[in-house]
Order: sequence, then structure tokens, then C-alpha cells
Amino acid sequence: MAEIILENVIKRFGSLIAVNNLSLEIKDKEFVVLLGPSGCGKTTTLRMISGLELPDEGKILLDGKDVTFKRASQRDIAFVFQLYALYPHMTAYGNMAFPLKTQGFSKDKIDAEIRRAAQLLKIEHILNRKPRELSGGDMQRVALGRALVRRPKAFLLDEPIGTLDAKFREEMRTELKRLHVDIGATTVYVTHDQVEAMSMGDKVVVMNFGNLQQIGTPSEIYHHPANLFVANFIGSPGMNFIDCMPVKDERGEIFLNITSVNKKIKVSEKIAKLILKKEMIDKELILGIRPEDVSIEFKECENYIDTEVFLIETLGSFNIIDVKIGQTTVRIRTLPIVSPNIGQPCCIGFDMNAVTLFDKKTENSIMN
Ligand code: ATP
Repeated sequence: MAEIILENVIKRFGSLIAVNNLSLEIKDKEFVVLLGPSGCGKTTTLRMISGLELPDEGKILLDGKDVTFKRASQRDIAFVFQLYALYPHMTAYGNMAFPLKTQGFSKDKIDAEIRRAAQLLKIEHILNRKPRELSGGDMQRVALGRALVRRPKAFLLDEPIGTLDAKFREEMRTELKRLHVDIGATTVYVTHDQVEAMSMGDKVVVMNFGNLQQIGTPSEIYHHPANLFVANFIGSPGMNFIDCMPVKDERGEIFLNITSVNKKIKVSEKIAKLILKKEMIDKELILGIRPEDVSIEFKECENYIDTEVFLIETLGSFNIIDVKIGQTTVRIRTLPIVSPNIGQPCCIGFDMNAVTLFDKKTENSIMN
């Protein structure tokens, strides 16, 4: 069992704050992904959990024990950077045996552990091969095997499949996830790839410039982003952002005025209540809506915004249609059958249950 807790952890490199007051709870057996752009502090966080880096402030607890200043070797955690880093002169077996030999385990114990890991990873048939005789995928599996034989309390994986080509990455993603289900060890996985994060994580931790942005399940992060950064970082194509301002008419009804085209659209009762509760009338907001939650019609419709087709991308199982509202491009995901001509008049509407409103000043969602 391995529960990992970070309490108000701060790490500085000179004047740079690489990790800024991070608190995080990783439950036993959980698969947690640290996600964010390059330089946001993911690797530093992982290195602090492993013990390779010490925090300047805060605490790190492993199964309730304070390990903040314990050395990496005393933490029972396996840290895998790139899965490739194998010793070229050793066989796969030799590579996997190495960490156990250095710990002084008996030959039989080492053999049993290697057989167990090899079976899990389905690499029994390549144990006698040297790295140069292995495919990229097999090298990755052997490197993972080398971590598995130690039976660590937790796995820390830093962009383990980052350098692979797209198709192969997809395959390894599935394998790693499956392996996690099979061995059930707590895993912290670092990536800058949002698709990898969303498809693998039980929980995703989004970071930017050392600051925590949001912690949530992939679905929470996707459907209820905490701020513009998260909304923008997750999803492909990304969320649409449209300037708007809540207004109240003389009968007290609430509308969202789409600022660039000065068109008022009706909102759901839930959103109207929220706007009133948060006192957002006449405040500058940003309406966030995912491409699949925008509808497009080629006839006149109520509560829609008039525009025309700017561009269309046919992507096989779906199309992406671009339209403009003022200067803002809005991307709409449609069925492949929806295939209008460029320049064709159309109107677009928003699924009000799927809208996220952000305060333009703070960039935070106002939905909670
Ligand atoms: P990447 O995906 O590029 O590895 P990351 O999100 O993992 O990025 P970190 O490697 O944790 O980010 O780095 C966070 C910040 O701290 C960066 O600005 C980086 O340049 C800086 N940094 C990391 N390690 C050191 C170090 N040993 N000395 C000085 N600065 C460092």
C-alpha cells in the first residue's frame, strides 16, 4: 500500500519558484497524472516524491510517515524516466536482475522476481536478448520490468513514452494502463500530452508555472475546467472562447450579450440564477463551449447567431467547421454528413448545459 501526500510543498531554484505551495493527495493504488506544459514543475514534483530532490518548504508523507528528508533509497519507490535507459552490454534478464543484485538478493529470489515480471509484461521469450536485439517496445517493457522486480510501493514515471511515435505511444498507453490494473500499485505519471493524461489518469493534476491549476477526474477537468488555462489546455480541438456580458431586460429576464456582434442569447434557468447569485450583470465574461456542444443550422433559428461557414475540415469520423463571430473563430464538431460549402450562410447555437462562464479579469470559472 502506498498513499502519497504533499503538504504545501515549495521548491525554488535560485529566484525561480519551480513548485509553488503544492498540496496533493494520492490515494493507494491510484493512477495520478501530473499534466502541464514544459517547465511547469511536473518533473520537480516527481523528483521530490522520489527523494531525488528536497523541498524548501512543506512536507511529503508516504503512508502517513514523514519522508520529506529521507533519501531516495529509503523510500521504496521506483522512478522510471525514459523507459529506454538499459545497459547495452547486459541481456534483458541481466538488466532486470541488476537492481536486485545490488540489494543482495539470492539468485533464486532474483530469478523468481524476474519470471513474475516477465510474465506480467509478456517478455519471457526475450530475456536472453541484448537491447540491440530488441524492438523499441520490448526495450520499454524490459525497462519497466527492471522497475517491477523491486516490487516498489509506488511507480513514478516521467514521460516514459514521450519519445515514441504516435501509433506506438497509443499501444504503450494501453499496456501501461492495463499493467496498472494488474499490479494495482500507486502510480504517478508525468506528461505534457493531454490525451495521454485524459486516457490514463484516475485523477489529473494540471499545473502551470509551478502553480496547481486543478485536480480532478478526466471528466471533471474536461467538462468543468477551473479556469481558462485548464479549459484551453485540455481538448482537441480546444474549447471555444467568446466574449460576452450578462444583461437583464426590462422584464427582468437574463440574456448573454455576445459582445462582438451585439446579439443577445437566452440562457438556461440555472445559468440565469448563477449570474444573479455571483452578481455578474454587466460584467465582462468569457463563454467557453466545446466544439461538440455548438450546433449549426442552415435555416433561420431562434436563439442562434447568424454567420457563415469559414472553413471545413473533414476528418473521417467527424468534421470540424469553422465560423466567425466578429473576429473570433468558433469551431464546431459535426457528423461527417454535415458538409456545407465555404461561405454558406448558417447560424450557430450553444448547448447551455455545457457552457462554462469565466470571469474575464480573474480568468476563473464562475460555475462553482
Ligand atoms: P519538462 O516537461 O520540460 O521537463 P517540467 O514541467 O517537468 O518540464 P521541471 O523540469 O520540473 O518542469 O522544471 C520546472 C522549472 O524549474 C523549469 O523552469 C526548470 O528550468 C527549472 N529547473 C528544474 N530543475 C532545475 C535545476 N536543477 N536547477 C535550476 N532550475 C531548474
